[in-house]
Amino acid sequence: MEYGSHYAPRGKRPETKHIVVHCAATPNNSTRHTPLGIVRFHYTPESQGGPRHGPWKSCGYHKIRARDGSVLVTLHPAAIGAHVGDVGHNHDSYGICLMGGIDDRGRPDPNYTPEQWAGLEQDIREALTLWPDAEVLGHRDMIERYGGRPKACPCFDVPSWWAGLNSGPADDGDDTIDNPRPELLSQLVVPTSFTVSPTGTDRLLIDFGEPVSLADPDG
Ligand SMILES: [Zn+2]
Repeated sequence: MEYGSHYAPRGKRPETKHIVVHCAATPNNSTRHTPLGIVRFHYTPESQGGPRHGPWKSCGYHKIRARDGSVLVTLHPAAIGAHVGDVGHNHDSYGICLMGGIDDRGRPDPNYTPEQWAGLEQDIREALTLWPDAEVLGHRDMIERYGGRPKACPCFDVPSWWAGLNSGPADDGDDTIDNPRPELLSQLVVPTSFTVSPTGTDRLLIDFGEPVSLADPDG
């Protein structure tokens, strides 16, 4: 199957009210689990170890941050993903996933690497340049607000963390959010098509195509 459209296969979000942080719930010391592995998992049939109702139509998240801080853009930022379906808000939410989030005994553990914390901050600032009024939340905050089966994801208090990052001394003139930094946007390359094998597991190609401007998500 191949998806040629930026927004395929679920279409474009009519609005973006939430920027939601997730974790992959993979062991923090794992180098075996990778962002591409998450994408591959989402394309795998449930009968072959994939997610519930798998294979999904696309990766559920828009971006995934690896342990080394590198990022895989897995959906067009304005596309409808599949990450907060449990609370019915895929249509107005952007989703970022961090690899890790549990310890070696499977307990919630926000032991993300310094590169991931820095990358996540950059991801959120980029997203806010596109949707300045969106709220920054964790998956668990969405569940608490809108109802749903409780989850620890992403295993830390996202609103408090974000507020702490932005509560520094008075205005230093660096209005990153109010004044989008084009150099951040131009770094992003959005996948234009995904090709997966019929089994969904043994081959996965992501055509990242040409960089597209995120300054105009309607483009
Ligand atoms: Zn989650």
